[in-house]
Amino acid sequence: MSDIKQSPYEMALKQLEIASQYLPKDKDWLNAIEYLKNCQRCLIVSLPIVMDDGTMKVFDGYRVQHCDVRGPTKGGLRYSKDVNLDEVKALAFWMTMKTAVMNLPYGGSKGGITVDPSKLSKTELQRLTRRYTYAIIDLLGPVKDIPAPDVGTDSKIMAWIFDTYSMAMGLPDHGVVTGKPVEVGGSLGREAATGTGLVYIMEAMAEKIGINLDAQRVAIQGFGNVGANCALQLAQNHKCKIIAVSDIKGGSYNEKGFDVQALVDHVKKTGSVANFPGAKAISNKELLTCDCDILVPAAIEKQITAEVAKGVKAKVIAEGANGPTTPDADEILNKKGIIVIPDILANAGGVTVSYFEWVQDRDAYFWDLERINKELRKIMVNAFTDVYKISQEKKVPMRIAAYILAVERLAKAIILRGIFP
Ligand code: GLU
Repeated sequence: MSDIKQSPYEMALKQLEIASQYLPKDKDWLNAIEYLKNCQRCLIVSLPIVMDDGTMKVFDGYRVQHCDVRGPTKGGLRYSKDVNLDEVKALAFWMTMKTAVMNLPYGGSKGGITVDPSKLSKTELQRLTRRYTYAIIDLLGPVKDIPAPDVGTDSKIMAWIFDTYSMAMGLPDHGVVTGKPVEVGGSLGREAATGTGLVYIMEAMAEKIGINLDAQRVAIQGFGNVGANCALQLAQNHKCKIIAVSDIKGGSYNEKGFDVQALVDHVKKTGSVANFPGAKAISNKELLTCDCDILVPAAIEKQITAEVAKGVKAKVIAEGANGPTTPDADEILNKKGIIVIPDILANAGGVTVSYFEWVQDRDAYFWDLERINKELRKIMVNAFTDVYKISQEKKVPMRIAAYILAVERLAKAIILRGIFP
């Protein structure tokens, strides 16, 4: 099947199938793999919302819990016009793999609403979020399933989820959702965490392969929370040149490297990285295949297809997005000797600081930023070291190595717990 037609969940299953070739073949292990091919629970809800003009619109909402064998399910909530069940299932599956690679005491889940949030007023967005939370409330809870931000959602939306859940339960329960504002039990460092974690992983990678991170030219697809925070830190803490950036409205290229803070200000003013003064306009595909050292896909799934992979010139790809590279593209990138730091490792900084937030909420004791970033770095570097070691020992790309590590941890838990009844 051509990778253009492959759905995100088909992609996820393919990745699992490839990794399982490197795992034991006895009955218990095969059963565990079979178990992981399926999502434990999928809920579809319809959400009638009275719009500001008095008319009613009905939106589709989803919450998928892929696997809770290692702990309560954890995963973000996406608002996008393209959200559908298959995509949410894939994103939930990747969360199970991600929390296992990072060795966090969680399983994986994801939620979504098929809506373009930029088309709603703040009050409509709040009603939609509260209605959604209420519709899936039986699935939620600090020891059941814990949402967080993802594409199209932010800390303000997480505050509404926290409030709706707490109102319904009759007590303030901060641990039910992460990525909240710090004023209502959020964690310092959570907002920037995915970008911060990505930079820690790039530092570890640069050290392993003996390159100077400061001297790298970087192209970033997507300039939301992940892309922008990664760009800021690479420019500020290192001296990387950010030479190309793009978002859904367009792209900008400057071989001399951008003043990233000025770019962030431009985005705040205009809503896009396009038309940045002094930059050349580039398309999405031109960005992915531009002459750079490190490519950071930080948008959505299936951006680096086989067709695109043929033209990629970067030496390293660090996946800020979930599922940006198809399995067919992986094969081509691998043959070309391009190192791919896979999503389930590279972008795990977000869920890791979500974990810290949850721990702080449950303890009702909050850490300073220094402790957050120190512990984040430790967990990211440990996971990187584990994955890198497997990739060297088994002579496989890092994606396969990360899946081997995750599936080993999951399979052992499934085997130890046994299949009920
Ligand atoms: N949506 C983010 C992710 O894909 C964060 C999930 C979380 O913090 O639970 O990893």
